[in-house]
Amino acid sequence: MSVKLIFRCQFCDRQPDPLTQVSLEKSVPELMWGAYEDAMPEKWLIWHGRGLYGPPRYVCREHRGDLVAFLRAHYGTVGWHPWKRPPYPTNLRNPDKERAIAVGGRSAMPKWGYGPQVK
Ligand SMILES: [Zn+2]
Repeated sequence: MSVKLIFRCQFCDRQPDPLTQVSLEKSVPELMWGAYEDAMPEKWLIWHGRGLYGPPRYVCREHRGDLVAFLRAHYGTVGWHPWKRPPYPTNLRNPDKERAIAVGGRSAMPKWGYGPQVK
């Protein structure tokens, strides 16, 4: 069975090129909360929201500023995370997180139903 994740910029509906698609797919299992991440090579911006910060969001390079402004307007009073300034990391993985995923950390995320469409 093949599962393809469809990512679209939330502002212009654009889809990533194949390499950026790979970066975006790799970001999905992250247990991040309230963090930005760059997806190369097209430099899409990922917002690892979840919980109080809403669902994960993805935007193309042209709309990075729009996403940051949107998040600051909506979640700027929730905490400092949306105010973080670039440069953002391109890879948020670490061994602790891999372990958390392995023991089922993902399934504990209450908002897991949001995010990219699975087709
Ligand atoms: Zn866009």
